[in-house]
Amino acid sequence: MELNLILFGPPGAGKGTQSEYLTAKYQLVHLSTGDIFRANIKGETDLGKQAKAFMDKGELVPDSLTIALLESEVNKHADAKGFIFDGFPRTQAQATALDQFLESKGSSITCLVALEVEEEELRARLLNRGKTSGRPDDVNPEIIQNRIDVYQRETCPVADHYGAQGKYKGVNGIGSIEEIAQRLCEAIDAARVSAN
Ligand code: ADP
Repeated sequence: MELNLILFGPPGAGKGTQSEYLTAKYQLVHLSTGDIFRANIKGETDLGKQAKAFMDKGELVPDSLTIALLESEVNKHADAKGFIFDGFPRTQAQATALDQFLESKGSSITCLVALEVEEEELRARLLNRGKTSGRPDDVNPEIIQNRIDVYQRETCPVADHYGAQGKYKGVNGIGSIEEIAQRLCEAIDAARVSAN
């Protein structure tokens, strides 16, 4: 059976770092909507130009654009063993669209693993990352706060959406990279057993 994971958590929770490890371990295709948008900005595509205006302010890129992008990326990997969705879905509408899209392919989300990190720590991590990441949205404290607020308002409902399906697994996101990776694997392996 395919393994389709959503790696969930607020900005700065460590999704990118942990995705690398999980992708290698479970042999999944990693799809980060943020990375795809940034690659499009760099390549100066139309999509990149549209996305940049929202990203620079710490706002979400509109659902229609994001959902179409994600579906076309999934379709590029017809023989994948599964996916790790990083930074998607970020709204209730994206979650519903993802469920319907996977269902149309006879597939589904196995579980959502959420990295839990408190706000103080997120603000500190993002400001620190801004010193080296070259990301305009990591530099300004007001934009960072906006991203955290957007997360609370728009993205938290996604956790409830999968919670209602019995697919939510919360993981403590404070600790070393290896410790957190270990916790994620335990949560994923448990979800996998119960899904089979
Ligand atoms: P982080 O989680 O650290 O904020 P991401 O790379 O996941 O970083 O996202 C950066 C920005 O890209 C977001 O603030 C948003 O503007 C845009 N973005 C990424 N994924 C989505 C999505 N699923 N829906 C809407 N906007 C998105």
